[in-house]
Amino acid sequence: MNKIAEIFTSLDYGPAPESADVALAWLAAHDNTFGHFINGAWTKPGKTFASENPANGKKLADVTDGTAADVDAAVKAARAAFPKWSALSGYQRGKYLYAIARLIQKHSRLFAVLETMDNGKPIRESRDVDIPLVARHFYHHAGWAQHLEREFPEHVPYGVCGQIIPWNFPLLMLAWKIAPALAAGNTVVLKPAEFTSLTALLFAEICDKAHLPKGVVNIVTGEGDTGAAITGHPDIDKIAFTGSTEVGKIIRRATAGTGKGLSLELGGKSPYIVFDDADIDSAIEGLVDAIWFNQGQVCCAGSRLLVQESIEERFIEKLKKRMSTLRVGDPLDKAVDIGALVAPVQVERVRDLVKKGVAEGGQLYEPDIDVPGGGCFIKPTLITNVSTANTVANEEIFGPVLVEMSFRTPEEAVALANNTRYGLAATIWTENVNLALDIAPKLKAGVVWINSTNNFDAAVGFGGYKESGFGREGGKEGMVSYLKAKWEKELKPFVAATPKAAKSANPLDDAGGVDQTAKMYIGGKQARPDSGYSRPVHGPNGALVGEVGDGNRKDIRNAVEAARVALGWATTSAHNRAQILYFLAENLEYRADEFAARIKAQTGEDGAAEVAASVERLFAFAGWADKYDGAVHNPPQRMVATAMVEALGAIAILAPPSRPLLGSIALIAPALAMGNTVVLVPSERSPLSLTDFYQVLETSDVPSGVLNIVTGESKVLAKTLAEHDGIDAIWFAGDAETSAMVEKASAGNVKQTWTSRGLYYDLSDKAKFEGDYFLRRATQVKNVWIPYGA
Ligand code: NDP
Repeated sequence: MNKIAEIFTSLDYGPAPESADVALAWLAAHDNTFGHFINGAWTKPGKTFASENPANGKKLADVTDGTAADVDAAVKAARAAFPKWSALSGYQRGKYLYAIARLIQKHSRLFAVLETMDNGKPIRESRDVDIPLVARHFYHHAGWAQHLEREFPEHVPYGVCGQIIPWNFPLLMLAWKIAPALAAGNTVVLKPAEFTSLTALLFAEICDKAHLPKGVVNIVTGEGDTGAAITGHPDIDKIAFTGSTEVGKIIRRATAGTGKGLSLELGGKSPYIVFDDADIDSAIEGLVDAIWFNQGQVCCAGSRLLVQESIEERFIEKLKKRMSTLRVGDPLDKAVDIGALVAPVQVERVRDLVKKGVAEGGQLYEPDIDVPGGGCFIKPTLITNVSTANTVANEEIFGPVLVEMSFRTPEEAVALANNTRYGLAATIWTENVNLALDIAPKLKAGVVWINSTNNFDAAVGFGGYKESGFGREGGKEGMVSYLKAKWEKELKPFVAATPKAAKSANPLDDAGGVDQTAKMYIGGKQARPDSGYSRPVHGPNGALVGEVGDGNRKDIRNAVEAARVALGWATTSAHNRAQILYFLAENLEYRADEFAARIKAQTGEDGAAEVAASVERLFAFAGWADKYDGAVHNPPQRMVATAMVEALGAIAILAPPSRPLLGSIALIAPALAMGNTVVLVPSERSPLSLTDFYQVLETSDVPSGVLNIVTGESKVLAKTLAEHDGIDAIWFAGDAETSAMVEKASAGNVKQTWTSRGLYYDLSDKAKFEGDYFLRRATQVKNVWIPYGA
């Protein structure tokens, strides 16, 4: 062998350590002990816990465990700072964000080293990915601050935001939370994760250096209890959380009925799909990034490899070879690929899950490579031969563990990919652009990467479908999460007119003649109520004006089933949906007199005006169907990200008691226009306008199952719908108590909710409700990243 060839075969990495000195000096300057950062100053340290370096177990600092009183002090500081901060012009706020971005860049190496020491992630990643993205986030949002009024007219900040973040991307998650919140004019109380508080504390000092007004950013360190004190604090207006789905559900329940805004970025089990025509070497390199970046502790990690059967053997062989070249070691070594997991407890958790996966039939592969002792290190791990029922195919492992399955056809790939309660991200590898763009819309995920993976940018929204949460971070969608319509802050309680008592309580009383009890409308057919009972409908003077079926759990079950069968409505063209809504409006208008009379009989009010408003509302949303669409982003990578506006799925809508027709139409029209199917519970008091509506539906080409109507007691049906896993979102217009119940019960599958909380939403107000207010709530944005440009 000649000399050069010999060098190539024996070539090895020397150590390339990054110095810890500057970070250690910063910690020492604080006596390695920290209080909270409240109202622009450090508090005296209280009861502390240790923050350790997971690569060697050494203590880095003692950090204060925040109490409820600490949280309260931070909220008070944030509240006091809010009026002045929110009153600054967007330009002025933007300049602060810009100053923060510059300071982060200036101290980027200190941030990167400190992050690596505290979290265990390779310095290559903290230096080249985390910190640059943090700076980018502040730059990007400096621009949003400046353009706020133009882009979001008549919107105001929430007020004080409570923000709780995890340990996997400590500073980056802080930036994702704080930058948009401040740009929008909110003040914040943020709690970093117990394992990784240090860069948040360094950031506090940066805020001070940027002369950020006192109290605008408050950092309270602590454990889960401190987080709970934030979510439970009565003077916080919005909660933003990133973390496990389990804690996300706890927070959903804790905030139910409080009126707090809520965004949840939760777990994932993201598919990484490789078709047989993919560029295999690139797909393997992508996979290394997808699952071994940050030791796999990434919410959107491509942790489920789905590979087409025809290339499975070759792909796995190459993958194993590549795994054997990965270097696990000291995270401060610049030549290391995989660092340490965040803490011993996480190592245990990952090992337990791997054991379970193997016990349930998976085949384990770990490369024969060196792993240092004494720290939280785990080899890159592959589990093949995994069945769909295996725990490791379903649970978020949050470690360097890839599970593999194969598929034969694109249809099977989609079915496997979507066979999860999560929906955060997905990756597709194929050289066939038609195939990639056919699959992307079929994946239930908030982010889809084509022939690439783990791309992030401040201009591109990030967030999940299903149990991966709701709300987006980044881009315009992310800004919206920190703003409220001005009028929504000024709503007054709804005072329902007390209906006159029924003239007779005898259940055998009826309108006389042949029974005309209105049935349910399910799957395009009229259906008798399962209960076999009916409910009387009384007019304004207490006289019986008709009867409807008394819907129960079984009617709801049937209606939800029908709504799910009809989900294809989302893929009919927007033009077609518009045509059908126009047709509905037209057919309703033909029968305006009849509907007007019915409204008058039920409420005594001017039915003609309500019918006219309902017709107009249907027209309005027919008009929106093909106009409320997405955007194309140009992130710094050589890619475009197409922000596609997609339907949520099956929405449960419980209409308000007042306005028997418009109350329902104002809610169903935007939902249907955007491609959702609906289970509607019309006004409990005056349901006859919607049971009359069946005939309009039948003559307007609305596909069966797209709109299902179940009459009955609103509160009871709301509970069943809120708990139903087949419902993707629920809107409830009515009293505060039932609103709170709906929000709480929705936690089961992390439904998106809109509730009126006993406040008066005047749905006849065109300025408020003919535009994007409900369109936004009827949709979610999927960002599809596509390689683009040279
Ligand atoms: P958690 O969801 O428990 O933690 C996220 C944040 O919430 C932390 O700041 C945590 O505080 C805080 N917190 C914990 N309990 C509450 C509560 N009841 N109310 C308010 N805040 C609370 O994640 P873990 O750190 O415990 O990790 C557990 C698992 O969650 C991981 O193994 C992983 O599978 C998953 N995970 C998923 C993430 C994602 O982005 N998808 C991120 C992190 C974890 P503290 O850390 O101090 O306890």
